[in-house]
Amino acid sequence: MKALIKRRAEPGLWLEDVPEPKVGINDVLIRVHRTGICGTDVHIYKWDAWAAKTIPVPMVVGHEFVGEIAQVGSNVSDFFPGQIVSGEGHVVCGRCRNCLAGRRHLCSGTKGVGVDRPGAFAEYLALPMTNVWVHPPDIDKDVAAIFDPFGNAVHTALSFPVLGEDVLVTGAGPIGILSAAVARHAGARYVVITDVNAYRLDLARKMGVTVAVNPQEKSLAAVQKELGMQEGFDVGLEMSGNPKAFRDMLANMAHGGKIAMLGIPSQEMAIDWNTVIFSMLTIKGIYGREMYETWYKMNVMLESGLDIRPVITHRYHHTEFEKGFDVMMEGKSGRVILDWETS
Ligand code: NAD
Ligand code: ZN
Repeated sequence: MKALIKRRAEPGLWLEDVPEPKVGINDVLIRVHRTGICGTDVHIYKWDAWAAKTIPVPMVVGHEFVGEIAQVGSNVSDFFPGQIVSGEGHVVCGRCRNCLAGRRHLCSGTKGVGVDRPGAFAEYLALPMTNVWVHPPDIDKDVAAIFDPFGNAVHTALSFPVLGEDVLVTGAGPIGILSAAVARHAGARYVVITDVNAYRLDLARKMGVTVAVNPQEKSLAAVQKELGMQEGFDVGLEMSGNPKAFRDMLANMAHGGKIAMLGIPSQEMAIDWNTVIFSMLTIKGIYGREMYETWYKMNVMLESGLDIRPVITHRYHHTEFEKGFDVMMEGKSGRVILDWETS
């Protein structure tokens, strides 16, 4: 089968023929139809310091996908060929304290699809049945292809109650924009999003945020004043990984405010802990998605009218993957989809 593979420990990815994955007795074999390109895939493509220390080569990469079940292992009785599925990209150990207690997203021994084990940028992917998520048959396949980042956004945005609250999102990348849309859908009063990239601020406006602002041009204090806000943001969603953005958020939170952090800083960052203490803030780190409450909520929010399609801005055939990576590296994109259905 064709797959996008990290063949050598250097920048780039290679579209090559590799053997089809073996299907264990508990596995489901999926014919991949569409995939999304994640920031993680860009790190692997560029072969930065994180990728070099994390990814064994050779490795089939990618973890955002939708496809159709092609075959099931002999132990699998709940999934059937023909079902449209995505999959949770974190394969948990099943034996640690958190896994046994049903808190699988807190597993300390998790393995990543397309990071530690063969990924989804391929014609076929084998996944343990525990990680398969079945969609309604009429789901929009572009939307289903990005359930992984959509799930990051839902997990973060619903970490704290947002009904009637004022929400600040720092970073209007695809996940920041998705989280803003989720906060709106979940009943937030104002959703303000920041970015330094004009293309992405425009995309956020298309998704229906209250205000999209470049903090280099207008301060969050000024935005609060224009909206008639009195005491600061109630909920913060940090989606940039940028220390400046995070400090700006801390300075604009209401007393007792809650912050959920998904953005990954590239190194340690200093903050004014006095603000955290005297504003009595709660800060929660977010990794991945809750298994499988987040997944349930995603389908339900789509069924109750949340439209995330505007965040998908580019579509390419998998043979044109380089165009997809280029547009992402330029920052002139939302989510980018690769088509694997036609060879
Ligand atoms: P992205 O890189 O596309 O988006 C980040 C955005 O932050 C960019 O648009 C960038 O212009 C913006 N930004 C940079 N400096 C800023 C500043 N000073 N103020 C405001 N915005 C600023 O990333 P994404 O795919 O949307 O993901 C969001 C973040 O979440 C990334 O840091 C990513 O690494 C991280 N992530 C974490 C998890 C997890 O499980 N914790 C999973 C996926 C992604
Ligand atoms: Zn575990």
